This record gives sequence, C-alpha cells and structure tokens, in this order.
Amino acid sequence: MQRKLIFGYSKEGKMGTTLPKCDVPQKTITDLIPQNLLREIPNNLPQVSEPEVVRHYTNLSTLNHHVDKDFYPLGSCTMKYNPKINEAIAGNSQFTEIHPAQLSDTTQGSLKILYEVEKYLCAITGMNAFTLHPAAGAHGELTGVMIIHKYHKSKGNKKKYILIPDSAHGTNPASVMLGGFKPIKIKSTEEGLVDIEDLKSKLNDEVAGFMLTNPNTLGIFEENVLEISKLIHSVDGLMYMDGANMNALLGIVKTINMGFDITHLNLHKTFSTPHGGGGPGGGPIGVIERLKKFLPVPIVVKENDDYKLEYNLPDSIGKIHSYFGNFNVILKTYVYLRMLGENGLKNVSKNAIINANYLRECLKDKFQIASPRIPMHECVFSGDKQKEKGAKTLDIAKRLLDYGMHAPTIYFPLIVSEALMIEPTETESKETLDRFIEIMLKIDKEIEDNIDDVKNAPQSTPNSRLDEATASRNLDVNYFLKNS
Ligand SMILES: *Cc1c(COP(=O)(O)O)cnc(C)c1O
Repeated sequence: MQRKLIFGYSKEGKMGTTLPKCDVPQKTITDLIPQNLLREIPNNLPQVSEPEVVRHYTNLSTLNHHVDKDFYPLGSCTMKYNPKINEAIAGNSQFTEIHPAQLSDTTQGSLKILYEVEKYLCAITGMNAFTLHPAAGAHGELTGVMIIHKYHKSKGNKKKYILIPDSAHGTNPASVMLGGFKPIKIKSTEEGLVDIEDLKSKLNDEVAGFMLTNPNTLGIFEENVLEISKLIHSVDGLMYMDGANMNALLGIVKTINMGFDITHLNLHKTFSTPHGGGGPGGGPIGVIERLKKFLPVPIVVKENDDYKLEYNLPDSIGKIHSYFGNFNVILKTYVYLRMLGENGLKNVSKNAIINANYLRECLKDKFQIASPRIPMHECVFSGDKQKEKGAKTLDIAKRLLDYGMHAPTIYFPLIVSEALMIEPTETESKETLDRFIEIMLKIDKEIEDNIDDVKNAPQSTPNSRLDEATASRNLDVNYFLKNS
C-alpha cells in the first residue's frame, strides 16, 4: 500500500514535464517579478516524474471510499451515482471559460440555463420562484430564515421563535439561531411523527414559523402536514420545508400542496452532484408568490427572448453569494433534469422508495426497525439488539468497511438509540442491495460467533480505528511521511 506523501518521491532534478527548446530570449524570474514580491526562501515543491504523480493520486483516490467504488448508503446524504455526462458537460470550455462579470449579452446561454433550472424547480415543488444562490442546504435554510425575518418585519409582527421537531437535521436549529430566532423543540410521537399536542402547547403569537423535514429523518412522511401548516398559518407563521431529501417526492408530491411557503432543495443530493468533503453544493430555495420580493439579488429575468440580471428589488434580503451561486452545480442539475424529464424524475423517487423498503423488509428480522410506519427513501434501524449481544452500532459500521462498503449514517436521528440510517438511493441494482443485506446479516452472525472480528474492525482499510476526535482536531499531515 502506497503511504508516502508526494514529497516522499521527490528527488532533486527529477522532471514531470518536457518543455520545447526556448526560442525567445531567456529571462530570469527577477527580470519579470519585482524583488519585493519574490519569496525569500524557495518553496519546497516536489520534483517527481509524470507517472509518479499519476500513480500517487490514483492510489490515493482509492484509499477512501467513494460512490464510484462501491455502495454508499449514507442516510439523509443521498450518495447516489452521479452520471458522468454531467461532468463532461460541466467541463466544457464554453462554460468553464466564461466569467460571471461578463456583460449579459455575451452570456445568454448560461443565463438561460439559470432561468430554466429555476422554472423546473418551480414545476417540481409548485413554488412560484426560486433563487439558485445558496451554496448548500444549510445556506438555503439561512436564506429562508432571513426571508421569514424580513416578512415579519415588513408586517410589523413581533416574532421570536421557530418550531423544529426533535428529529431534525442539526443545521435546522443552527440556521434559525443565525437568522435571529430561537428554536423550540417539538417532540416526536412513538411512531416518529410530529407530536401535534406538543406543537399546540408551544404555539403562540410569537412563533415566526415551523421548519419541517418531509419525509422526516426517519424516512417517514408527515401525514399531518396539512394540519400542522394550518396551525402555523393561524398565527401568521410561515411553513419552511427542509427539502434536502426531495429524492422521495419527485413527481409524487409538490411542497406547495403540503402548505409550505418556503422550501430548499439540495442539488448535490437529489439532483446528482458529487458531494462530501465540503462542496461545492447548491441549496436553492423556492418561495410562494407573496415572498418573491424578498429573494436575494440578482434574479434572472426574461424579456422577449433576452435574459438579463435584475438587481433592482427594493425589498430583497440582499446578496447571499457572489454572482449567482455555484453555477457548475446548477449546470449539472440542468443536465440531470433534462436527461430524465418528468417521467424519469418520478421513477427516481419510486425506485428510491422501493429500494429502501426492500432493505427494510430483508433486514427487519435481525435489526430492530425504528418505526412501524412504512418509510419512503430511507429506513432507520436501531442497533439495540446487537448492542445487547456486545457490539455497538459503531462496530457494525466499522465492520462494513472490511467488506468494501460504506457504512450507513449512524447515531442520527438522535431520537433513535444506536441508530443506523440507511439510504440506498435509486441508482443501486437489486444485486448490490442483496450483497449489502447478506453482509449485514453476516455481521449480525459474527457478533454471536466471532465478536472480536467486529470489535476490531476495520482491518482491511489503510487505517484501523482512529481516535476520530483527536484526528480532526490535531490533523497531522506528515503522518504518512513519518510512517512511510
Ligand atoms: C444534508 C441535509 C441538510 C444540510 O445540507 P448541506 O448541503 O449539508 O448544508 C439539511 N437537512 C437535511 C435533512 C439534510 O439531509
């Protein structure tokens, strides 16, 4: 196993490029760059050959797990296969070589794509307008909360709180705090749905809105969503949908029909952009007609057949991202939407739901299901039975790595003890799901027969168990050099 840093291959004078003979008068670096801008100490760039560079990074790319390598059932994160045509088109120089500050008459094609993606997202959700600017789901949430803030301010409402179920993603309360409100936690029922009585007891005139994930983080559709939105609207609150997991609803339910006023979508989950490791992503938000005027600037407008950018929106919350957001991610979304069309998108969700339910049915005899309700695109188990036999959910997750698969999301949602949250996504075949099921059942058996193999896993990965907290806080980039 290669464990050197690129510097480990470096040798004075080794070359990775072959330049033609210079046919112009040669100049030294000091002729070209003023002395005060030059480094005092030469930088320590590695001197390596081209094959060494290629092999080094190819090997590195397979040390970590990724969706092109094998199954990646990380619940809530939607690690679906990303069609390579997205990358091919997004890498086209006609897109990569334009500058966002170019005059709009030279970027009509790109503006048209922004405009059309917005329209497609409106069709999918039923919202009246979208902004594509937010760079991630959490950023979309913050933008949405800023709009909620501005809406209430414009009406002179005195609002303080946003209600959030206890099953919510951690970004929800964080965005609410950043946006200037206090989050109030609403309990879940035994089945994992919003506890309406608890909601009623916490509802008052100071409630600015409700932030709901639907299907929720247990993968369950909140069937009381219309009653919830009626309650929230009765105090002039706004309904915000965390639509990061739209993978379950495409072509099946529109967010507008559930009473939502604002919704975000995660382009890097539902609409296929590779993600993880920090971006880039896309977290567009859609709003109903009366909130449109608060959207961030600029918006793309179409006049006759011309597209242009409109900055003059006096009620806008302002700018939340440079230029128009992560254009490249929006472009991949466009390709994905155009490739699948209306029927294709509906099939995405149907297959995502079937796959999750297949896993649930095949595993539920050995693993405790978290809710008796039929889930949508993901299924949640509790590892309590396995814990009684001596192996925690963390051990099961680590053992999966030995079998070449990524672990599901673990210990989330927080309301399920020893949670295992599995999202297979629609792109996996039955054969892959069967292989995963077989491995999960095998691990369950190993816990009875051979528990040390599970407790000491993983053994087949470049590193076994790390002290993860220390590893992230005291990152040691020279680790491999010292140990190679
Ligand atoms: C992923 C996710 C988010 C946050 O999205 P980011 O793009 O990671 O900021 C919010 N809510 C839910 C339910 C999610 O799954």
